[in-house]
Amino acid sequence: MQLPIMNDRCEKCNYKYDREPGYFIGAMYISYGLAILQGIITFLIIHLTFPALSTIWKTLFVILVICVFGRKNYKLSRVIYIHIFPW
Ligand SMILES: [Zn+2]
Repeated sequence: MQLPIMNDRCEKCNYKYDREPGYFIGAMYISYGLAILQGIITFLIIHLTFPALSTIWKTLFVILVICVFGRKNYKLSRVIYIHIFPW
């Protein structure tokens, strides 16, 4: 599985996305936060819907959801990061 490829510049306004080398390293923290948030929400939904399910299955389901949303988080975290530090 390959990571999504990002354009160098915006097609409409020619905004340069990669401001400097390593600019998007900070987006890792956003991605981490998103994954944790999704994990907590998934666990709460599973726990409240199926209270009798064993913890190992709940944990495996949380890991599955985090893996499924990984690619989305990769892109979304960069979008959020570029809006936090747009200059
Ligand atoms: Zn643009």
